[in-house]
Amino acid sequence: MAIWGVVNQKGGVGKTTTAVNLAAGLAARGLRVLLVDADPQGNATSGLGIDKSQIKNTLFDVFQAFYDGAENAKVSNETILEVSDNLHLIPATLDLVGAEPVLLNAVGKELVLRDALETVEPLYDWIIIDAPPSLGILTVNILAACHGVLVPMQCEFYALEGLSQLMKTIDVVRRRINPRLEIAKVLLTMYDPRNKLTQQVSDEVNAFFGEKVSKVAIPRNVRLSEAPGFGSPAVNLFPESKGADAYMRFVAEVLA
Ligand code: ATP
Ligand code: MG
Repeated sequence: MAIWGVVNQKGGVGKTTTAVNLAAGLAARGLRVLLVDADPQGNATSGLGIDKSQIKNTLFDVFQAFYDGAENAKVSNETILEVSDNLHLIPATLDLVGAEPVLLNAVGKELVLRDALETVEPLYDWIIIDAPPSLGILTVNILAACHGVLVPMQCEFYALEGLSQLMKTIDVVRRRINPRLEIAKVLLTMYDPRNKLTQQVSDEVNAFFGEKVSKVAIPRNVRLSEAPGFGSPAVNLFPESKGADAYMRFVAEVLA
């Protein structure tokens, strides 16, 4: 059983695309997967074709229950949507922005997600958590709940900017809350080998993270950006595309 958070406080680096395709790819390989959308933008939720206006319970209800003093603010069955047999989802909508103020002065606010997932953990082989582009309380909850951090890095200018902040946050959470926390993988996204800058960023990332960097780089591929509009992960919808192929090779590497 593994819990990975897909984390990078930089926006638009491919967190959600990675979380959705990794989750769907693992499910396609026969593993039981729970994808947790922990971003108020709810991109993973809509990327899986869930109509947000029809959702009754979201991740926010867990935080609300904690705030209300529920004895155990657990993830309930009503919160989990069955996208397919092997792929389940805890959805998010904009109401999740309320988690931050709700938790502000609460004791134990870093552990809400970890405790909430405890009861459902045995039902899954993998739990993948999609993070928002910030290092706020939601991301700290993710880091407290997961075993491994998957860091997508976009091969563009400023890719490594803010990296020290991320590493510092991971370090603090490891020392104070979650000793097993480690960087599991660093994944280069929107990779374009013809672009000199891509090569430069890739060299820098390799120098910094060494063997943590995945052998697979995800190419810039339009199918990956089109798939969410159809409400289905590219690995399912466009399996022949270069992007889906790269994500499936990444899945194989993760499982190896
Ligand atoms: P946010 O920080 O806002 O949550 P994110 O890190 O989750 O963003 P994504 O939403 O996955 O990033 O990707 C940002 C945009 O880039 C999206 O429009 C997505 O479809 C597109 N995109 C992601 N990866 C690729 C790729 N390899 N090739 C082409 N487009 C991509
Ligand atoms: Mg996202």
